[in-house]
Amino acid sequence: MSEREIIERVPKQLFIGGTWRGSDDGSVFGVDDPGRGSRLCEVADGQGVDAKAAVEAAVRAQDSWAATPPRERGEILRRAWRLMTDRADDLALLMTLEMGKSLTESRAEVTYAAEYFRWFSEEAVRIDGNYKRNPDGGGRMVVTRRPVGPCLLITPWNFPLAMGTRKIGPAVAAGCTMIVKPAQLTPLSMLALADLLTEAGLPGGVLNVVPSTSASRVTGPVLTDPRVRKLSFTGSTEVGRKLVEQCAPNLQRMSMELGGNAAFLVFDDADLDVAVDGAVTAKMRNNGESCVAANRFLVQSSIAEEFTRRLTDRMAGLRMGHGTESDVAVGPLVNEGQRGKVSELVGDAVERGARATTGGSPAEGDGYFYRPTVLADVPEDARILREEVFGPVAPVTTFDTEEEALSEANGTEYGLVGYVFTRDLDRAVRVGEGLDTGMVGVNTGLVSNASAPFGGVKASGFGREGGDEGIGEYLETKYLALTLRS
Ligand code: NAP
Repeated sequence: MSEREIIERVPKQLFIGGTWRGSDDGSVFGVDDPGRGSRLCEVADGQGVDAKAAVEAAVRAQDSWAATPPRERGEILRRAWRLMTDRADDLALLMTLEMGKSLTESRAEVTYAAEYFRWFSEEAVRIDGNYKRNPDGGGRMVVTRRPVGPCLLITPWNFPLAMGTRKIGPAVAAGCTMIVKPAQLTPLSMLALADLLTEAGLPGGVLNVVPSTSASRVTGPVLTDPRVRKLSFTGSTEVGRKLVEQCAPNLQRMSMELGGNAAFLVFDDADLDVAVDGAVTAKMRNNGESCVAANRFLVQSSIAEEFTRRLTDRMAGLRMGHGTESDVAVGPLVNEGQRGKVSELVGDAVERGARATTGGSPAEGDGYFYRPTVLADVPEDARILREEVFGPVAPVTTFDTEEEALSEANGTEYGLVGYVFTRDLDRAVRVGEGLDTGMVGVNTGLVSNASAPFGGVKASGFGREGGDEGIGEYLETKYLALTLRS
């Protein structure tokens, strides 16, 4: 489909109780193309009343959805995976238009996002339980698992589909209904997904989508309703902290996928070709706008100059342009605010003595472009080493010993992912286990995988998405005590 057809076809209303409808007061908001700075279309602007209607729809659908056979729930997800795979090009184009990343990146995200549906279609029929004899031999214990109940799912703009499917997939598989609040900057991918899931057979009311210009106007009334039993949030640590407080009165269960500030450790015994490839992947996936982006490159002193030179060559060679153009590796950042923050952190580092070996400034012209940047000689007090940069900037610092590297890597409030490059297996295990993170990439810059548990520790949150653990976030354990008379 052409760009115009894609935008014309995507639903632009709220999706509540299986019906597309305008917002309560008829208001709409604009969705823009960050690569051109132009308007794509307008979408219904969800109000508090709409959020309450979505809760009613989710609550109404909960019992019959929980009673739907797991095989049937799994098959809906399997059909949705198939549809996403068949329509990957159209979904990717839609994503590129509203979010900016290159078509190659968007296609990769569609595949990754669809994999969560395939994975959880298989998990739906493996929800376990057990039957045991009491230790005293008298009674029996039956342990079963049941859906948590209606959930609120809040997603960010950086991966508009995948951050949705890794919540929707397990919720559908477990038998939970849901209200989704997509990011204001990228509601279109989620609306297209709701349409696709309906086509795959998802009954009305199971999934409700309420985009809005005011997140709290929608999420507030949902979380104050005690019938909503769980919140799954992906976004910044700052907003995550506020939402944890909001879940306290009703003691809702929570999964928190928050910010990151990943360290990328390169030891002098590493294969430098592999390390530089890994660095480009870990840094430039999604234009650097990723929670698992490598943000601090810690390189052993003896190879730091060579590593920086090679990384600089690779970053300087990346083609920047509108995401829909061919061979584009780097698209625009999502908006001016995001670009301003990247400029500020680079400016701070340079003022304190860092040196840009390539890039170091925004690009001129339309769209929110920032040049791929490598910073050498970054001093310890530079803000970029403490704050999540969320852009195409690679700050390089050096270390001498393994202890020093680990101490520096762990010296952050975040704990999502770390990367280690070495040929020494003992060291890989030692450092991998020593990193205070939920995930570690060993000689790879890519850890995301639907069949692996994704998540962090410390200020990066709690709970896991994907893998064997993912569905457990949407299930409660229930135990039946059986007393036998003889
Ligand atoms: P954000 O500002 O926290 O927004 C995330 C979502 O929360 C959006 O839907 C947003 O709505 C909503 N939101 C904002 N304020 C809210 C409030 N007071 N109450 C309820 N909802 C609220 O984060 P972002 O800038 O979109 O995303 C980037 C952040 O996400 C980064 O820190 C990144 O590391 C993190 N992230 C983490 C993971 C992970 O798995 N750990 C994955 C991807 C991204 P609006 O769009 O209307 O603001």
